[in-house]
Amino acid sequence: MAASTLTSRTLASLAAKVAPISVSSQLKFSDLEMYQQPKDMRRKKMDLGKLKCGQQFADHMFECYWNDEHGWMKPRISPLHNLNLHPAAKVFHYGQELFEGLKAYRGVDGRIRLFRPQLNINRLLSSADRVGLPVFNGGEFLKCLVQLLKVDSEWVPNFAKGSLYIRPTFLGIEPRLGIGRSMDAVLYIICSPAEGSFSTTAKPVHLFADPKFVRAWPGGTGDKKLGCNYTSTLMVQREAERLGLHQVLWLFGPDHRITEAGASNIFMLMKDDVGNVELITPPLNGIILPGINRQSILDLTRDWNEFKVSEREVTMQELQERLAKGQLLEMFGCGTASAISPIERIVYKKDGRLIDLRLPTTQQSNSLYKRIFDFFVDVQLGRKKHEWAVEVD
Ligand SMILES: *Cc1c(COP(=O)(O)O)cnc(C)c1O
Repeated sequence: MAASTLTSRTLASLAAKVAPISVSSQLKFSDLEMYQQPKDMRRKKMDLGKLKCGQQFADHMFECYWNDEHGWMKPRISPLHNLNLHPAAKVFHYGQELFEGLKAYRGVDGRIRLFRPQLNINRLLSSADRVGLPVFNGGEFLKCLVQLLKVDSEWVPNFAKGSLYIRPTFLGIEPRLGIGRSMDAVLYIICSPAEGSFSTTAKPVHLFADPKFVRAWPGGTGDKKLGCNYTSTLMVQREAERLGLHQVLWLFGPDHRITEAGASNIFMLMKDDVGNVELITPPLNGIILPGINRQSILDLTRDWNEFKVSEREVTMQELQERLAKGQLLEMFGCGTASAISPIERIVYKKDGRLIDLRLPTTQQSNSLYKRIFDFFVDVQLGRKKHEWAVEVD
């Protein structure tokens, strides 16, 4: 399949146009204003191995302000800078905030690619709608994002080193106390180089599952990427770390249904009593974040048509039974930040007791998660031509 390309000629000719007015009412790529950091003032790129993920930032950011009365102002790309917000800005009090996370990959051919970015933008829009922030034209936003990547292309590391993490963010910033939708907002994008291995040596993950804590609930916002969904997880994450574990396995309901791990979706490969293999992930029932990796794993494995692929509930009881019978073949988490990580241990708190579940090791070369991971990496690095890869330059 051919990769979809946004032609650089169109983008360049659009960017060259000077927008006549400062208020535009719609978010339009053709209104984009560019203020580039002089080359000799650009930031020094630090060695990725020495820094924690998300600690350094590319030179430029995208931003666009919105107001209920005037609509969208002209979007702009300018050197990374602090936001100047009033202390009464609604986001500080009522958490009207949402974000996205995607990556730009530099392929083996040197070109920069995004992985299904339209899905991230659709999810951004659905998050915005859920918190009462305005929606906008996703295609125009994608063109702006691509332009930002072109300006900061030197920040996309070589594939041997990592990728550039892209963080679109949307805030309600009206300076007014009183619970209510914000009449002012800012949408911005910042980028941060991320270390990441594209070889299949993912470190196995150990999880802490305590049904006392829930991440999301029916009718809530767990299926949107809102900052407020993560606030209440931070202290539980600390509990996990105190036990020497990496992440939290989020359970839900009296039957302790498995939902997600940390900020990753979960997959389980199981077989039944007669040996039929089934790949399972929890269904999108409102408490699961609809991950792009989750969707891509479903699309890919359904396309392979080698085993049953199900979106269904799995309880801790079923997991334990299958594990005891040797029917749990693999369990792994997936998400843009952590790629695909095998899960090898779950410490499950049940009736005040800690049950230590050791899962089958996923280090065999024929592991399903490795096969999927390799496929994704081949698409992201341009080794395999696929419609999921969007070439930026
Ligand atoms: C972002 C996120 C994921 C993964 O989504 P991807 O689009 O695959 O990166 C899964 N669960 C939660 C809670 C998340 O925030």
